[in-house]
Amino acid sequence: MNITIPDPTDAIQTLWQPFTPIKTAEDYIESLRGRNMTVYYLGEKIDEPVDHPVIWPSINALAETYRLAIDNPEIATATSPLTGQPINRFLHVPEGPQDLVLKAEMQRELGRRTGTCFQRCVGMDALGSLHSVTYDMDQECGTDYHQRFLAFLGQVQKRNLVIAGAMTDPKGDRSKAPHEQSDPDLFLHVTRRTKTGMYVTGAKMHLTGCINSHWVIFMPTVRLSENDKDYAVVGAIPADAPGLTYIYGRQSCDTRILDGGDIDAGNPHYSGQEAMMIFDDVFVPFEHVFMDGEYTYAASLVERFTSYHRASYVCKTGLGDVLVGAAATAADYNGVEGASHIRDKLVEMTYLNETIYASAKASAYQANELPSGAWINDAMLANICKHNVTRFPYEIARLAQDIAGGLLVTMPSEKDLDNEETGGLIRKFLMGRDGIDSVDRMKILRLIENMTIGRNAVGYLTESLHGAGSPQAQRILIARLAEIDNKKKLAQRLANVGQ
Ligand code: SF4
Ligand code: FE
Repeated sequence: MNITIPDPTDAIQTLWQPFTPIKTAEDYIESLRGRNMTVYYLGEKIDEPVDHPVIWPSINALAETYRLAIDNPEIATATSPLTGQPINRFLHVPEGPQDLVLKAEMQRELGRRTGTCFQRCVGMDALGSLHSVTYDMDQECGTDYHQRFLAFLGQVQKRNLVIAGAMTDPKGDRSKAPHEQSDPDLFLHVTRRTKTGMYVTGAKMHLTGCINSHWVIFMPTVRLSENDKDYAVVGAIPADAPGLTYIYGRQSCDTRILDGGDIDAGNPHYSGQEAMMIFDDVFVPFEHVFMDGEYTYAASLVERFTSYHRASYVCKTGLGDVLVGAAATAADYNGVEGASHIRDKLVEMTYLNETIYASAKASAYQANELPSGAWINDAMLANICKHNVTRFPYEIARLAQDIAGGLLVTMPSEKDLDNEETGGLIRKFLMGRDGIDSVDRMKILRLIENMTIGRNAVGYLTESLHGAGSPQAQRILIARLAEIDNKKKLAQRLANVGQ
């Protein structure tokens, strides 16, 4: 299907003007410069996020999605049914199980390359879910959201842009609906509508990669009732739209990079990014509004998004590969790689990691088609994947620390290594087996520290627990899809009871 993407209307033309097509990682990094964003980190307003040493590794991790598209187009690109042109897979709406299988392979590979969160999947999964939900709304409500969405998607694909997905509201009192909160801003909502668009106010939390994105799609995070109509809104805004403020998330050991050197940071070139995003009367032209008051569709949007996104957590298997490799290297440097208990621990780590991968891939192969023509991961298996991710990385991390030994947390700093009094002592006494440089040994231990208690433990552990829904959210879905009554009948028939 090749359809013509309409040019943006005069009203929104200016919004698209700053975005010239991006081909390379370097183009992408340049495209982030010079924007008028309000970003705070450690109590200070940041002039240019691209040049900030703590923010830079997160930009570099996202840039890897552009590098992979050039290095391995087989898994990291697709053909757009809108334009007939090759596009980055992060902007592709899945057209069959094979697309979802390749998506999982791409995410694992990017996890291997970066050892952290590369931040581009929330936007991808928002595009996937909106394709079908806007279609359903138009069929049933006579709206024209799907055409608006396709026009937006076409522009984004032509320019190869990064989309962030803003879903999680602050939520305030969790026992209350959005309209029952004492402060209405605890869920993002419409404050007023004009002839040309609407204004939204509120905040979104835990926004992965938002400062590194070009556009942000905001969506509801819970099922909504008629009284919550003003909260049932979906729209797309440039990441530097007037009225937006970002407050960068503090991460464990994030300022180690400021100490100079590249040992203590563990993984100095790559990191994730999470921030709070505050919306103060942000204008959204109707061309970029994809839901406005259709509250009954909030639940299907959230459910479809989670089916895609819980399978996206296959990304953590790429990080698991790095951690298995780091633990094996640490054992090798210690001269014990061949010890049977070490080999067994590496087998256990691999088994856990591949179990996550198996559930993600199964959810892709068992995908279902939606009325819009988009394909979506099997909901049960996607939830099993994410539920595995809430547990197995913790055990993999424990085993990596077990193999690494206590030096992981008692080792002197790079500055002590550089000190002429202590440097020689450290080199002498941190030696492993013959032929191994003590500094290499320190570097591999710092990487394990980085992934299990340092900056990228944010992505490998706590995000694995809470990202795309905390464990209980998956258990609710698993309970709903478990078909216990049918299973009871199977047992009762064989036992010849209760029929
Ligand atoms: Fe992608 Fe994984 Fe980061 Fe989520 S946690 S954005 S799925 S890399
Ligand atoms: Fe996430």
